[in-house]
Amino acid sequence: MRPEVLYPLFKTLGALKGVGPKLEITLTRLAGPHVVDLLWHLPSGHVDRTYEPKVAEAEPGRVATLTVRVVQHVAPPNRHRPYRILCHDDTGTLVLTFFHAHTDYLLKTLPEGELRVVSGLVERYGDEVQMTHPDHVVKIEEKAEVLRFAPLYPLTYGLTQKVLGKAVHGALECVPYLTEWHGESTLKKYRWPTWKEAVLAAHNPENPDAISPHAPARERLAYDELLANQLALALVRRGMRRAKGLATKGDGRLRAKVMDALPFTLTGSQEMALKEILHDMETDVRMLRLLQGDVGSGKTVVALLAALAAVETGGQAVIMAPTEILARQHLKTIEPLAQAAGVNTAILTGREKGRARAAILEGLVSGGIHIAVGTHALFQDDVIFHALKLAVIDEQHKFGVHQRLELAGKGDAVDVLVMTATPIPRTLMLTAYGDMDVSRLLDKPAGRQPVDTRVLPASKLGSIAEGVQRKLDEGARVYWVCPLVEENETLDLAAATDRFEQLKGMFGQDTVGLVHGRMKGKDKDQVMADFQAGRISVLVATTVIEVGVDVPEATVMVVEHAERFGLAQLHQLRGRIGRGSEKSTCLLVYSAPLGEIAQKRLKILRETEDGFVIAEEDLKLRGAGELLGTRQSGLPEFRMADLEAHADFLSMASDDAKMVLQSDAELNTERGQALRTLLYLFERDAAIKFLRSG
Ligand code: ADP
Ligand code: MG
Repeated sequence: MRPEVLYPLFKTLGALKGVGPKLEITLTRLAGPHVVDLLWHLPSGHVDRTYEPKVAEAEPGRVATLTVRVVQHVAPPNRHRPYRILCHDDTGTLVLTFFHAHTDYLLKTLPEGELRVVSGLVERYGDEVQMTHPDHVVKIEEKAEVLRFAPLYPLTYGLTQKVLGKAVHGALECVPYLTEWHGESTLKKYRWPTWKEAVLAAHNPENPDAISPHAPARERLAYDELLANQLALALVRRGMRRAKGLATKGDGRLRAKVMDALPFTLTGSQEMALKEILHDMETDVRMLRLLQGDVGSGKTVVALLAALAAVETGGQAVIMAPTEILARQHLKTIEPLAQAAGVNTAILTGREKGRARAAILEGLVSGGIHIAVGTHALFQDDVIFHALKLAVIDEQHKFGVHQRLELAGKGDAVDVLVMTATPIPRTLMLTAYGDMDVSRLLDKPAGRQPVDTRVLPASKLGSIAEGVQRKLDEGARVYWVCPLVEENETLDLAAATDRFEQLKGMFGQDTVGLVHGRMKGKDKDQVMADFQAGRISVLVATTVIEVGVDVPEATVMVVEHAERFGLAQLHQLRGRIGRGSEKSTCLLVYSAPLGEIAQKRLKILRETEDGFVIAEEDLKLRGAGELLGTRQSGLPEFRMADLEAHADFLSMASDDAKMVLQSDAELNTERGQALRTLLYLFERDAAIKFLRSG
């Protein structure tokens, strides 16, 4: 249960004074639904309002805070001219101008004859000193509130600094004092304020340095977040390890049969990874291992061999994929090999319903099915296994920690192998997986040809299509990728459909297929199967093919609007070709104008196919937070921490978390309790259930 002291922070934004339903929607879109989310919305700049000249000396182009007496309101002759208010001090006249003015309001806030403090951008027209729509107009007693460094927040459409500033102010008034969770020596060493002071200071920058990620207040909040992240991961990991694992030591007979049936031999790193995995499975410590390998590095066969080891001991294994297409693809790879060894497989996705589903559930309970491949559908409560020993989770970055755990809960102490094609740099690895064990597939299967990558403007689409036609004449199979982003889904879908129709006209009605995320599963499969079997030779696709689809015969890929994709995404996409022994070509087609970053991205892709190099370059171009397109990646999104600026704090947080759990395993001490609050504060409370007294 969330500690009571945090209740005010987890109210919805509508609970703040002055935040009505409309503003609540805007703020929620900008920052998040709760009061605490506004606290995490830190200023990205500041404005110096400490410049306090006399009117005559006020430099144009600077923000100034001026104390003046209101002399006269001058209403405009027509609606197109501004309302003017003349003010003065002992050096000269200041003209305040307002367009579309609310006269009543101005008469009230700037009554003639009164002294007022106004702050805003100084302009000069001839001899006249002007200020258009001053940011602040206050009485002389309130001058101190204006005359300072003021935060400037990132805004969204329909929001002004003033309105947002007020809402944040309201949120700051809810900030409770929280018992300290950091050791005193740490606070001293880094000169960090208390949590409450840090939040207040971060929102009230008193000088330009206060905006820097290295300002003590910001650093502290970032470290808080990293510690919450690392502590949560450490708890989850410990929870999974605590349960004694299974000692799964197969005799190798099924693996031997499958190895015989494989048309290739394993690469050195496949052998190595398999050895590490089998070793984990054999010990009674629960396995929690990440298998990291670039697209096409051959992870699936490693997973299958590990699954067979489980089956050899009378157990079962599941292989989970993030999409139905992928699950079916895995089944297709695995099924014939498994059959060669007399091992039964089945697939369970959202599409298996009624009797078919019941039959599969029955096979899983009885143990008749040895290896189950599937999607989220495998999480459902009525899916019960006879003896689940290994869970393989493919393309893990599409799943959250929660789901990983749910699946692992399907069997006692199930060994977990997570597979990812995302070349995650070490720093990010720590945030996503804590100190999980890692096996890497570094070498690609033999016989791969480098992909010839070219970057072309959309104006060349005509000759691109001609080139594709020539390839088709030679018997090639072609991916034609159109982007589809959530925000533009309808428009993008229309564009993809248009392209599909057009290409059908060009290459032949029966030659081209279309597959996209909104299609029914069955229809998708049909198209994919047609493409795989060569019944169609051009596949127009939105990014559903992005992960894992394997059609070795495909040798050409056209990516439209390549500038809209991230580096990692393009790399994944391109990984779909160059899988067979034929030479492959990837055409990255961009629509002008091409921004500088997009240009660099495409250049990198043209120059290298090394996933790690690409990831590093991406990190440089975008900064860590965005590296994997966080929203898609399922990697934790950090609000306070900037993984570049605070990189050193990450390993410190990791060590800190370990040390805490060593001395206070259940977080029962006073500091432990404070740390629980920290977990709730950063909404990492899913980890709390791993505490005995959680
Ligand atoms: P990914 O790591 O992207 O999941 P896959 O497991 O889909 O890669 O493998 C890509 C392709 O490489 C498949 O067609 C697979 O059969 C093939 N493959 C896997 N291992 C080897 C190997 N050692 N030698 C040759 N081909 C291999
Ligand atoms: Mg794969």
